[in-house]
Amino acid sequence: MASKSKLIGGSFLLEQANTADVFIPEEFTEEQLMISTSVKEFMLKEVQGLGIAKVAAMDAEKDKDLVMEVFKKASALGFCGVSVDEKYGGMGLDFNTSLLFTENLALGFSFATTIGCQTSIGSLPVTWYGTEAQKEQYLPGIASGERGCSYCLTEPGSGSDANSAKSRAVLNAEGTHYILNGQKMWITNGGFAEVFTVFAKIENDEKLSAFIVEKSFGGISLGKEEKKMGIKASSTVQVFFNNCKIPKENLLGERGKGFNMALNILNSGRIKIAAGGVGGMKYGLEKTIEYATQRIQFNKPISDFGAMKQKIGIIAANTFAIESGVYRIGAEVDKKHDELLKAGSSGNDAKINSMREYAIECAILKVIGSEAVCNTADEAIQIFGGMGYSMETGVEMAYRDARITKIYEGTNEINRMLSLGEFYKRAFVTKELNIKKAGRTVPAAIAQNFNPFKSGMLSTEFMFVNNLKNLFLIITGAAGAKLKEKLVDEQEIVMNLADILAMAFIAESAFLRVKKLGEKAGTDKATLDIKTKLAQLYLYDALDTARKAANNAIDSFAGGVQKFALKRLVRIMLKSYSINPKDLRREAADYIISKKSYSL
Ligand SMILES: Cc1cc2nc3c(=O)[nH]c(=O)nc-3n(C[C@H](O)[C@H](O)[C@H](O)COP(=O)(O)OP(=O)(O)OC[C@H]3O[C@@H](n4cnc5c(N)ncnc54)[C@H](O)[C@@H]3O)c2cc1C
Repeated sequence: MASKSKLIGGSFLLEQANTADVFIPEEFTEEQLMISTSVKEFMLKEVQGLGIAKVAAMDAEKDKDLVMEVFKKASALGFCGVSVDEKYGGMGLDFNTSLLFTENLALGFSFATTIGCQTSIGSLPVTWYGTEAQKEQYLPGIASGERGCSYCLTEPGSGSDANSAKSRAVLNAEGTHYILNGQKMWITNGGFAEVFTVFAKIENDEKLSAFIVEKSFGGISLGKEEKKMGIKASSTVQVFFNNCKIPKENLLGERGKGFNMALNILNSGRIKIAAGGVGGMKYGLEKTIEYATQRIQFNKPISDFGAMKQKIGIIAANTFAIESGVYRIGAEVDKKHDELLKAGSSGNDAKINSMREYAIECAILKVIGSEAVCNTADEAIQIFGGMGYSMETGVEMAYRDARITKIYEGTNEINRMLSLGEFYKRAFVTKELNIKKAGRTVPAAIAQNFNPFKSGMLSTEFMFVNNLKNLFLIITGAAGAKLKEKLVDEQEIVMNLADILAMAFIAESAFLRVKKLGEKAGTDKATLDIKTKLAQLYLYDALDTARKAANNAIDSFAGGVQKFALKRLVRIMLKSYSINPKDLRREAADYIISKKSYSL
């Protein structure tokens, strides 16, 4: 049983977490690590074992049989049921272990999307919102992989604006079935799915509802496999519903609550994108190091050059920091889940509400994780030089595959808006976040250049993290006071504020991890030293990002004395952080190169 959750969603901004309450990846158990190893081994053997050139050329339409063969093998190992309760034939993994599972899926390139969809957006709607009868009917087949599943929200006319979907369901005269008409687009796993969660409006409703739709109901036809830039082996099709007859009992959850359900499923999908990104970055590091240590130019391995070490150091720092944030929140979801169950929530409510709680952090992690994995793939191509551009090495495939992560599960622009919007909602509407207290304590904290841990290990770093949080609160408060409800239309400022918020959360997660490791007996000094350097490197870049975002925001809304005062505050609070980034990146790169992988 997980311990009590101390971090309510978004509260990282207002309260200092204690290291004792923060989960760090070094605390995964043997059993959890075994799951991670089995996924890794599977992907290496069954996907990469086909040969990278073959995987790169795999096509969802032409190679459907091969994709389905790998899917069946994965199903035989129980992979399709990771999030399904044991009662229905699944593994019933806790959420954090499902993130670890997702991290390792990344080694399967586009096949990761196939299993990822089955275990996440495909199966979670029934797992979280289904009635007992619906679960008994659908989950065993989904968990065993006998029935592929998919999630149908997007339509040609409604992508980011998902609630404007036009698909309609009308109850028939007998009152026994909904008759569904509409068109869904970009549906992952749609080419082989037998069970679809479809979001549509009932009659003249303004809000979406959700339905469990079986292919066998009839009235369903599929478009051709989309010709995509990447994840080519992953099936993506349009799905057309033409008088599709759905039994009334297949309404999922409450009528009109489909949009909320869709968004909450995406919260889980978002943090999983970050987890997959961590897996992609670790794998990317391993492959680039392998290449860079063998490729000789100017009589030296290219890994000896500072310009290459700089890239490796940056990728490693991003991996470490984002990994810290992912598993910190994964563990909070589990704690909240157990806490809600204990307080008498139903199994469904505990799953739904524990996920919803961390919508802010999930949006942050999706944005930062996807951007970091895309940068990693780009830099991996650079390290491989011409060979990175060749289809032979698989690096260009990783670059193309990674790119989708900035688009689906809500584009990064939508997720930036969401992180800020959720913060405002929690601070000013539901008042779950005690912003009034911050109003009283922040000015004093700034005056003292407040350090939450007073002195000792990493006190400068925690001061900077705290300054990032306080600066976010001050600039957001000033922008809100000046622009009021018009702030939502000033999206450029919203993007800037979301970036400061994200930097505060990820940098804090990295330092809480390092601090906790430092407090633990038996931590290896050499790895702690490298991990500390990686966290410091992340903070160094995070301060730059936040400085730029803060100045952009201030220049965009403030004027006169206020502008002068706020910019001065940025200079004071995000003053120069005195590390030597060149030396630290070299040390981190040398360490990782010596280990031949990101084995921290
Ligand atoms: C390979 C792939 C697989 C997918 N799988 C699935 C799936 O399984 N199920 C499913 O339902 N969907 C799926 N999608 C759809 C995906 O979630 C959408 O593509 C995504 O949400 C963006 O919608 P859109 O493509 O219509 O872009 P649009 O919404 O048209 O956005 C285009 C651009 O405008 C920006 N934009 C839009 N609205 C705003 C706004 N209010 N303010 C500022 N900027 C804005 C966006 O950020 C983006 O940059 C998939 C897509 C792809 C490409």
